[in-house]
Amino acid sequence: MSAASQTPPVAAGDDAPTLLVKIFGKDRPGITAGLFDTLAAFAVDVIDIEQIVTRGRITLCALVTAPAGGAPAEGNLRATVHSWAESMRLQTEIISGRGDNRPRGTGRSHVTVLGHPLTAGSTAAIAACITDTGGNIDRIFRLAKYPVTAVEFAVSGTETEKLRTALATESAALGVDVAVVAAGLQRRAQRLVVMDVDSTLIQDEVIELFAAHAGCEAEVAEVTARAMRGELDFEESLHERVALLAGLDESVVDKVRAEVRLTPGARTLIKTLKQLGFQVGVVSGGFTQVTDDLRERLGLDFASANTLEIVDGRLTGRVTGEIVDRAGKARLLRRFAAEAGVPLAQTVAVGDGANDLDMLNAAGLGVAFNAKPVVREAAHTAVNVPFLDTVLYLLGVTREEVEAANTHE
Ligand SMILES: [Mg+2]
Repeated sequence: MSAASQTPPVAAGDDAPTLLVKIFGKDRPGITAGLFDTLAAFAVDVIDIEQIVTRGRITLCALVTAPAGGAPAEGNLRATVHSWAESMRLQTEIISGRGDNRPRGTGRSHVTVLGHPLTAGSTAAIAACITDTGGNIDRIFRLAKYPVTAVEFAVSGTETEKLRTALATESAALGVDVAVVAAGLQRRAQRLVVMDVDSTLIQDEVIELFAAHAGCEAEVAEVTARAMRGELDFEESLHERVALLAGLDESVVDKVRAEVRLTPGARTLIKTLKQLGFQVGVVSGGFTQVTDDLRERLGLDFASANTLEIVDGRLTGRVTGEIVDRAGKARLLRRFAAEAGVPLAQTVAVGDGANDLDMLNAAGLGVAFNAKPVVREAAHTAVNVPFLDTVLYLLGVTREEVEAANTHE
């Protein structure tokens, strides 16, 4: 067998002459059919097609093999396509060349940018930052226009971690949110999302709702704020605050449940994740008296929190069972992942407080949600708009998909 016969046949795209046909103009039905019908007369093969419509204007790029018959055939094809485009009032450009698209570089990432608004200046800075890390932007598309403008850049040629570090610094300075995740099948795989509750899934701090009924709201709020900023040991501060609730009637539990306000986008996020086949859980330094209710109302797969001890119809000022603190949250993420059968690398954790940091760093993707500065700086990714459903965009889900998932009941 000769060496030549062991070489795979040269595909049309490898080095053969090819034509890039670009069409631009007002979109209407029949353009794509019309172009390929015109090309079909020259018996060319399609190597690649990309088409987008932006505000009613179509951009259609077709990469096709050059027609058999050399320069005269190509000249004929050019004249025919131009005359068709003219009849359709479309602009066209035909560029001769060789082979297929340049292969994408190794090291591929998805960069999601959330802006409210997304300014041209921030977009320029982010694109420049990608280029500075050695990355190439292969593709850009819009994920959402509501409640924020979200665009995704497909980047190749640089390491995800390097890109993440560079963009984290840039995004903080720009005031936009940027998430960088590695491309690959893992992104499409079934996953587990674990959220913090207080100031993440809900807008309140549950202990402060209880404290309001005990008349010690200001005192508790002060300790909570210091704990969430990482200034106090969480467990110590928990015992200190819960002690202030001693003597409260247990009927307060129902009142607090009714007072809890979900974060905007929380229902949409959970509903969409469930439709995607994700498992969803919450871990809270708050109380099972509230998280069990949320689990039931929202159809969550997992929920864990501290339990307020109630004896003879009154809160004792103590918690019972395993304490859910900073280490406990990370431990529960691992436990839920094991129970869900999802590798830790495919988990997403979302939280706002210092006690979420171990969990955020243990997860495949840790999202600091409207977080305290200490958390924002240490997490993979920060979201600083008050809409929980924007987490979906970080997973590459588009607004259109979210809306479709939430209208077909
Ligand atoms: Mg929180």
